Amino acid sequence: MRKTITPLLFCFFAFSAARAQLTAPEKKAIAYINDHMDAAMQLLINSVNINSGTLNIAGVRKVGDLYAKELEKLGFIIEWVAEPDSLRRAGHLVATHKGKKGKKLFLIGHLDTVFEPDMPAGPYTVLNDSTATGQGVNDMKGGDVVMIAALQALQAAGQLKDMNIVAYFTGDEERSGFPHSVARKDFIERAKTCDIALGFESAMGLHTVAAARRGIGDWSLDVTARTGHSSQVFTDSAGFGAIYEAARILNTFREQLSHEQYLTFNPGLIVGGSGIKLSDQDARGEALGKTNIISPAAHVTGDLRFLSEAQKNAVREKMKTIVATSLPGTHASISFTDGLPAMEPTAGNLALVSQLDKVTRDMAIGETVAGDPGARGAGDISDIAQYMDCLDGLGASGKGAHRAGETIHLKEYPLLIQRAAVFIYRLTR
Ligand SMILES: [Zn+2]
Repeated sequence: MRKTITPLLFCFFAFSAARAQLTAPEKKAIAYINDHMDAAMQLLINSVNINSGTLNIAGVRKVGDLYAKELEKLGFIIEWVAEPDSLRRAGHLVATHKGKKGKKLFLIGHLDTVFEPDMPAGPYTVLNDSTATGQGVNDMKGGDVVMIAALQALQAAGQLKDMNIVAYFTGDEERSGFPHSVARKDFIERAKTCDIALGFESAMGLHTVAAARRGIGDWSLDVTARTGHSSQVFTDSAGFGAIYEAARILNTFREQLSHEQYLTFNPGLIVGGSGIKLSDQDARGEALGKTNIISPAAHVTGDLRFLSEAQKNAVREKMKTIVATSLPGTHASISFTDGLPAMEPTAGNLALVSQLDKVTRDMAIGETVAGDPGARGAGDISDIAQYMDCLDGLGASGKGAHRAGETIHLKEYPLLIQRAAVFIYRLTR
């Protein structure tokens, strides 16, 4: 009776064949994770229940101390990297493990959340058998604990001792100290000593990972115009006024550029009229405008998100061209500022996706593909992506990051820790 194979038997064979793809140390690490999920969950709960809004310096350091204690037990050397006082930020936790061989990994987490102490407290709360909520449970204390629990499992499997790892937890990812280049100086320098960077920001389900993240910058549009009595608007002598010109420019941006893939730009503030006063500090503007006066000035600020430096530069040129074709009686200029560079979908990053895909197939939990870069903003990894191969989105899955009530998917969580452990193991072979 060898002609047919029942679906159930087939599943069994497929499953055991897949499991057989894992080596003995990988199986040992996975078993350790399954046996120690309570401890991992307790570490997550303890860290979520400490408020660590970026500006709550004591809270950010407390979360750092909690993680440092766990990493110290694994033989990591712990350092606290201070930021200059003028930045008014907590600083960063850096844990280094020196081994004899293999590639050097740069593992990225962050200690802060968007929730400052004056916002409603969100302690860890289980909502149902597959969901829990709490401040930073998804972004990204869940991811920090994925990293730590994976390293604990690798140590238990006897595999950590030879690994070269820098685990870097920034203290101000959600609201970087200014200037950003100072806030990330040490981060970038240390990353450059490594071969591969892995970010543990939120996972989007079990089957994707981020091979690219969009970069971000700002733009600022200033329009001036001849002013006069409104009854003369549209005439050659009076012209169109600054508000019509700003509206023309924005509408042309939208018409010509809004369909480009991975490109977005959003005007966040517009002020027009006369006597314009602007405060960049708190993103505010004031103006006086009478309906019978042709507006002499307008000001607009917005962001710009892009997938590559080439896309950024090309779109800036197109925007300048649109700005330059002024309506009669008006003049406009646009300026751009750099924020975070893009993490581009390089061949090296995509090769890492293939390696992770092999991991999850070998674990018999299905494929892993590169997620949609348009679905994410920039993150810490963006600062260093130009120097090495990297992947992000290796953290906890769930929903609603940056909103009260963000969640973690509890059933996927052990599998994501296992995925991280096996991936780190293979990358360091
Ligand atoms: Zn984050």
